[in-house]
Amino acid sequence: METIKTTLRIAGIVKESIVDGPGIRLVVFAQGCKRRCPGCHNPQTHPFDGGKIININEILEMIDRNPLIDGITLSGGEPFEQAEAFAVLAEKVKEKGLNVMTYTGYTFEEIMKNLNTKAGWERLLKASDILVDGRFIQEERDLTLKFRGSKNQRIIDVKKSIENNRVEIILI
Ligand code: SF4
Repeated sequence: METIKTTLRIAGIVKESIVDGPGIRLVVFAQGCKRRCPGCHNPQTHPFDGGKIININEILEMIDRNPLIDGITLSGGEPFEQAEAFAVLAEKVKEKGLNVMTYTGYTFEEIMKNLNTKAGWERLLKASDILVDGRFIQEERDLTLKFRGSKNQRIIDVKKSIENNRVEIILI
């Protein structure tokens, strides 16, 4: 029998944000990231033994308590390092009619290449409406960019990109 992962290790939650994607969003910051991008804004999220453990039901209850929320943003840390549990959360959020935006240090192409080898990657990708991909590159940092830190990062329409087999960028 498949064991469903229902706990996440998180660095924190912001219950209402207007800067982490379109509309009003609840943001979950994953704990744990291997990349160590120079200039990373959230270095406290890097250790895989930091943060705290939370059951995804607690997050779903927070969402239910706020009728103003348009969607959820998964940020980091690196959500794809805990893809199975984040996929379960994302799928349940979508069942509520809300949208999902996921930040990752991996590129869309890297994720596509590893869909069948990394647990939960396919589910998390497919449950994400929008993917903001790629590591933070200090030399490409641009404060005028909306919803991303450096120019290399792309805001991607996941469904369209999978259908068309090429990266479809959302111009925001
Ligand atoms: S991928 Fe994101 S969380 Fe990880 S080091 Fe880079 S900027 Fe920081």
